[in-house]
Amino acid sequence: MTNGHQLRLYNSLGRRVEDFIPSGDVTGMYSCGPTVYAYPHLGNMRAYVFADTVRRALRWKGVRVRHVVNITDVGHAVSDADTGEDKMEVAAARERRSVLEIAEFYTRAFFDDLAALNVLPADEYPRASAYVPQMIEFAATLQARGYTYQLPSGLYFDTAKDPRYGELAQLHAEGQREAARVEQVEGRRRKTDFALWRTEEPGRRRVLRWDSPWGWGTPGWHLECSVMSIALLGPHFDIHTGGIDHRELHHVNEIAQSEAFLADGKPWVRYWLHNEFLQLGAAKMAKSAGGAPRLADLTEAGYHPAAFRLFLLGGHYRSQLDFTPAALDAAQATLRRLVARIQPLRPLPPVESLAAASPDDPAAVRALDLIDAAISADFNTPKILAALQDALRDPDITAAGLRTVTAAADALLGLGLAILDPAELAGRRAEADLTEAERHTIEQLVAARTQARKERDWPRADQIRAQLDDLGVQVTDTPEGPTWQLR
Ligand SMILES: [Zn+2]
Repeated sequence: MTNGHQLRLYNSLGRRVEDFIPSGDVTGMYSCGPTVYAYPHLGNMRAYVFADTVRRALRWKGVRVRHVVNITDVGHAVSDADTGEDKMEVAAARERRSVLEIAEFYTRAFFDDLAALNVLPADEYPRASAYVPQMIEFAATLQARGYTYQLPSGLYFDTAKDPRYGELAQLHAEGQREAARVEQVEGRRRKTDFALWRTEEPGRRRVLRWDSPWGWGTPGWHLECSVMSIALLGPHFDIHTGGIDHRELHHVNEIAQSEAFLADGKPWVRYWLHNEFLQLGAAKMAKSAGGAPRLADLTEAGYHPAAFRLFLLGGHYRSQLDFTPAALDAAQATLRRLVARIQPLRPLPPVESLAAASPDDPAAVRALDLIDAAISADFNTPKILAALQDALRDPDITAAGLRTVTAAADALLGLGLAILDPAELAGRRAEADLTEAERHTIEQLVAARTQARKERDWPRADQIRAQLDDLGVQVTDTPEGPTWQLR
């Protein structure tokens, strides 16, 4: 193959699609991680499946990556204004466990979900609580440079001192968006000013607390990402990812404090990538939404985690996705068909990069080019999926070519097509659960299909098969006639 298409991505900083040019031998990539005070819900996981897609795309292009995902186990206040109690402490009180037990428990739950979703492990998962001395040092540097002011409630970053404040969020007037959702803090000069250090209130001693030049307390939430990413990836790095909600506040503040700290006049991070929300009905599944479904709820209901992954990748990361049982059913059915089709091709060759794919079959070369074009066009995973499905139906492709194409597509999609067991993708409904009417409909469709086949009306037969497929019915033609079963 040639070098393929230029990787282009949508940079939130500037809001345009740009060529991705790595700045060095290893691309530093940072993804904002979870606050480990509750189970991650399905909406949370979209951000990590997206970051994983970026990782896989870079691997495909032969770019080496060092990926850091933080674990917030201290410092995330209940309110966006950095006021009120710490999320971790609230959870500990609620569950009658220690803050450390809470952090450990939910960090495990997060890792379990990552593994179930086949997300490539990051190189580092730094815990905020392990970096508090560095955070204090960072804040002290900002104070020495005149970027801060102190209030009884803590040390604040003075956003008026940063002429470029809010560029990422395109905040043209002072904190338009913030004004709506951030409450008043006594003495704060601008609504956009944010806490670098939260000093504990007299008489309200925190569980996790550190001494600092601004009294006993905890670091502000935004601080950890700047401090840990710079510590682990160097002062400047290439890619920062996160959910779209971070684009308006958290990432804006990360940029402001990091550029004030580095003071070298260069943009701190070059490419900012944000995934859209996963919508659950009308409610956005962004944060703190009680009762939002999590991955374990899906697996208990008989879905495979890879079906959820496929559902996510079936939409572009910059589009909102509506999570519905019907959509998940469709994803599981698609996955089942893919695996059934691919199983006879196994074992698949290892093809993790474009350079490793060298088919001599023109149909496979064409399919690989489509896949490369799709991933290069701002991570268009729905198109990769379509290219794979087309290749699997292509009568001109050789078995060897198809193995290469399938392996390549799955190196990018991460569905586990090389190993998934069809039995794990079995249907959720038992035949005994069918109503009489449903059974009747199925029998009629099967009979109509048999008739169409007798009359050699293949389009009609295929159309009925697709209808049955949508009902979760698999038809098998035997010498004694067709049989059917629920998948
Ligand atoms: Zn962050």
